[in-house]
Amino acid sequence: MIVYHDLFAEQGYPPLKDRVEPAFQHLKEAGYLDRPGVEVLTPGPAPLELLGRVHTPHHLADVESSGFWETAVLSTGGVVEASVKLIRGEADNAFCFVGAAGHHASREGYWGFCFINDVGVAAMHLLDEGLAGRLAVIDIDPHFGDGTRDILGPEKRVLHINFHSNYGSRGVGMGATNIDVPLPFDAEDDLFIEHAEACLDRALDFEPDLLYVIFGYDSHVGDYGAFRFSVDAYRRFALAVRERFPGGVCCVLSGGSGVKAGKAAIGEVVDILSG
Ligand SMILES: [Zn+2]
Repeated sequence: MIVYHDLFAEQGYPPLKDRVEPAFQHLKEAGYLDRPGVEVLTPGPAPLELLGRVHTPHHLADVESSGFWETAVLSTGGVVEASVKLIRGEADNAFCFVGAAGHHASREGYWGFCFINDVGVAAMHLLDEGLAGRLAVIDIDPHFGDGTRDILGPEKRVLHINFHSNYGSRGVGMGATNIDVPLPFDAEDDLFIEHAEACLDRALDFEPDLLYVIFGYDSHVGDYGAFRFSVDAYRRFALAVRERFPGGVCCVLSGGSGVKAGKAAIGEVVDILSG
């Protein structure tokens, strides 16, 4: 399942919005959207009540005045809808486009192109409604997912694996269900895949009902984040995910500004997960 809304490209946060439409067109042109079982979901806004379970009223008021409320709420709505469908077995995997990212949005603060914590809202919805008993989140965006750690860190039913480029622990919500994987600033494909495979094995041991992948490709060589990955790293990562989690993966787009790299990286992931 592909989650996509035209508004992400029109009103999304610059520079993230520039990659959205070209990458979606690429999926179309490559024929991935015509594959059996692949549907495109146009999301509605996430219900306010769900946002209020994760974020404070003060935070939501701030987001409302940011000018990115609509795109943030639609982005989150897409992740929530995809999560429920995946849990119900109505789809095997999902790739969610977004107009603004989520992993730097904490209960009461946001920065770095993020406004509402899409995965945090969706995960807590599944747990609160009894739709899932355990969840795993693997965040491969090279920036530390501080907002997700703030929201899901204390939740023992969620395993949060967090790749980042800052050495040393931030000391936020550390514990058995929070794993930080610092890699050197100039890390390349092989080092990443070695750690990613080990982390995915740990995620499998946790026996989650659903695996979230926070998919930032700002780790691509030349993009604005740390690391020096080639597009092949994302393909290898997707293969490692599919091998361990043949069904029940919800990929959510995060950082990455390159249009060409975005087409290639997102294309590889969708190709593997829908193949
Ligand atoms: Zn990032």
